[in-house]
Amino acid sequence: MHDFDMIVIGSGPSGRRAAVQAAKLRRSVLVVEKGRRVGGVSVHTGTIPSKTLRETVLNLSGWRERGFYGRSYRVKQDIHANDLLARLRKTLDHEVEVLEHQFSRNGVRTAMGSARFVGPHQIEVAQDSGERRIYSAAHVLIACGTRPLRPDHVPFDGACVFDSDEIIDLPDLPRSLAVIGAGVIGVEYATIFSALDVKVTLVEPRASFLDFIDKELIDEFVHDLRDRNLALRLGSAVTSIALEDGRPVTRLADGRRVATDMLLFAAGRVGATEALNLEAAGVAFDHRGRIAVSPHTLQTAVPHIYAAGDVIGFPSLASTSMEQGRVAACHAFGLAPPPPPEFFPYGIYSVPEISTVGMTEEEVRQRQIPYECGVARFRETSRGHIMGLNAGMMKMIFSTQTRRLLGVHIVGEGATELIHIGQAVLNLKGTIDYFIENTFNYPTLAEAYKIAGLDAWNRMARP
Ligand SMILES: Cc1cc2nc3c(=O)[nH]c(=O)nc-3n(C[C@H](O)[C@H](O)[C@H](O)COP(=O)(O)OP(=O)(O)OC[C@H]3O[C@@H](n4cnc5c(N)ncnc54)[C@H](O)[C@@H]3O)c2cc1C
Repeated sequence: MHDFDMIVIGSGPSGRRAAVQAAKLRRSVLVVEKGRRVGGVSVHTGTIPSKTLRETVLNLSGWRERGFYGRSYRVKQDIHANDLLARLRKTLDHEVEVLEHQFSRNGVRTAMGSARFVGPHQIEVAQDSGERRIYSAAHVLIACGTRPLRPDHVPFDGACVFDSDEIIDLPDLPRSLAVIGAGVIGVEYATIFSALDVKVTLVEPRASFLDFIDKELIDEFVHDLRDRNLALRLGSAVTSIALEDGRPVTRLADGRRVATDMLLFAAGRVGATEALNLEAAGVAFDHRGRIAVSPHTLQTAVPHIYAAGDVIGFPSLASTSMEQGRVAACHAFGLAPPPPPEFFPYGIYSVPEISTVGMTEEEVRQRQIPYECGVARFRETSRGHIMGLNAGMMKMIFSTQTRRLLGVHIVGEGATELIHIGQAVLNLKGTIDYFIENTFNYPTLAEAYKIAGLDAWNRMARP
């Protein structure tokens, strides 16, 4: 007999969803969390803080109104780090409260402390006070997430060289910022700070970035970034990062030197598995701390131990992590979850936003599917005029054989919300006719779907 039906290690999106799902199936659950409060990376250092920061920056800077009133328009003239942090703290408190209430409503127990395996079914929880206690469970879910990669050669000091967990607590706003790594996190922070008129240099050793996004969209995005003087340094390795006279200086293999007030190192994250003593459970992890699972059940090589969320790798999103947590709990307790939909959306909360679902044009070509594209610019919609939008585009890709929608790619205001229309049509196997024949609210940015649909229809051979 065990103390619990399930122990969940970590209270981020996958752990939280698994715990609530298990509780709804009337199973006893213990969530172990080593942070000060529940919520995970998602609530405390990742998704919610970065999105709150973005919203605050866009509001205080008057970014959305600049199309009308010009680049010098500001809602608040002098924006300080404290202006950004005030809203952040309030939002995070609210998120934690909702989560704590959800746990207590569903009878999910929590233990604050660091978890490690002491046997395949036994988890030791060490509290900050030094107290240790061992709990056992029939099933264990490892939902420990990731931590930022902090290579030894980077002089992190918490004053002017930060990782992406620390940047949300920054003491002052810099006048210039180097961001190392043009992955999703790097691109988001680079463009958020640039919207605050911080002089940003984004450094990426590879010649391209965000390669999973449709290339035409990236071209549009890069044009926007360059237009507002965000410096992109692509295709050259970082040879050193050093503090010179108290300022971070980055040297690149091509001989360039980037000296800034502040540096954000955002070149990757690693699974937070090192403290878990996984050997005691017989679970293996790779050189990046990631755990391999069976994709449909989320079981590790040890059948009663599951893993979900960022610790299992791609796509490493809060949205997909939640689903994984639910699937793991359902499988553990004999409930078959429906097969996951073929396509899920990807949202990048840069300024401007990018969102995408389905195949890119590059993938469609690679698969040799006969296709046609339709493009709409937000400035072609009345809503775009009202909002003063100069930029923003939507691209849709259709099969010319079946007329089915293959992919939707959006860059611009509201992209991460708009994408869900395309997602629904895609997963319901809809065709171009949906966009041609249906009425959309007017004036909306969603009208771009109709415009892009008609654009593709005009190029396609009629049935
Ligand atoms: C800056 C940033 C922005 C992001 N933006 C988005 C976004 O816009 N949209 C999106 O969908 N995703 C976004 N993500 C990704 C998202 O945050 C993650 O996909 C998600 O948080 C992963 O959830 P998880 O279940 O793996 O747990 P996590 O949220 O990673 O939380 C893991 C928890 O486990 C705890 N833990 C670890 N080890 C132990 C241990 N030994 N004992 C006890 N507890 C332990 C940790 O303290 C932590 O609280 C972002 C991430 C970052 C870093």
